[in-house]
Amino acid sequence: MLLAGVIIVGLITWPPQPPEASSAPVAATAPPAAVDNSAVILIYHHFGKDSVPSTNIRLAQFDDQLDYLAENDFHVWSLSQLVTAFQNQTPIPDKTVVFTVDDAWISVYQEAIPRFKARGWPMTVFVNTDAIDQGYRSSMTWEQMREVQGDGIEFANHSRSHDPLIRRTDESDQAWRKRVREEVSGAQQRLQAELGAETNQTQLLSYPYGEFPKPSPIWSKKWAMWALPKIPARQPPFRLTRLMRFPMSEAFADMEAFKQKVHAVVLPVENIDPFDPVIRDNPPHLTLSFTEPPGRNIQCFNPQGDRLQQQWLNDTTLEIWDENPIPPPRSRYACTQPTQDGRWRWFSHSWVVPKAASSGLQDD
Ligand SMILES: [Zn+2]
Repeated sequence: MLLAGVIIVGLITWPPQPPEASSAPVAATAPPAAVDNSAVILIYHHFGKDSVPSTNIRLAQFDDQLDYLAENDFHVWSLSQLVTAFQNQTPIPDKTVVFTVDDAWISVYQEAIPRFKARGWPMTVFVNTDAIDQGYRSSMTWEQMREVQGDGIEFANHSRSHDPLIRRTDESDQAWRKRVREEVSGAQQRLQAELGAETNQTQLLSYPYGEFPKPSPIWSKKWAMWALPKIPARQPPFRLTRLMRFPMSEAFADMEAFKQKVHAVVLPVENIDPFDPVIRDNPPHLTLSFTEPPGRNIQCFNPQGDRLQQQWLNDTTLEIWDENPIPPPRSRYACTQPTQDGRWRWFSHSWVVPKAASSGLQDD
């Protein structure tokens, strides 16, 4: 989650480490083979722009990924299709993958969209509209978006300026609410003005840098998006406001890692405490609540791949924390659990370290 284009890049190690064999659960508590009604959401930025490896996918890698999905009978959905299915509680087939792209760089138009058009696959592109309005040569143009939209190629909201949407330390509550309204509503207005009134009716929003604000009245419940690989059948309300996505830059995109990610299933966390990603005590403690005992072979990691401390408070409640303070500007805790059929369950929670100098400046 991170910058001028980015997102979470660099913050995930996947899978961080294999769980220890000694912690394997007994059969009665082993997780099921798979989870129904879930999907994997991938996020990309640049295609074939090899000078920015932290946010780029090489074209040969990308072609291999698309071939793999096609040859292994995956379903490729748009994000609006997925969210709509979730809201309507209609079934989502196993092996469903959603491609999202943030920032609308020109390589999306030049490389990614032609490949998807040729395959008849959908794609969801999140647009920070000020960059388009300013006519940067590195970005798509409105005209190009009008040319390719439809047939599953859809454009959605990535705010106007791409500034982080969490409240700044020097910002009053009133000023913050006004700023977020202008960022989100302003971008939506530009999208609809340029691409048509039907644009982004699902109200998908990709939070710049993946920094999602604490829920507040300024947010419609419909404003969904952010990042997440799986949506369980019984979707806790918080999930639709913070969908997790797997970053697909070069560093995370070798074929074995890609296969693991697209076969991943959600770790069915029912609730988290705290919800707010802005850290108050550092290192933060995070409590995960499960609807039923998930088995105790869950292992959690920081982005460096170090094991987190973890303590089961009871069969359905797990507390995790890092031994050391989290460095700014942002980080995450990720938990994994192997399934009986060789897949992985996965859960991730993002943190934002509230230092004035830490907001936003690092991604590409
Ligand atoms: Zn972005």
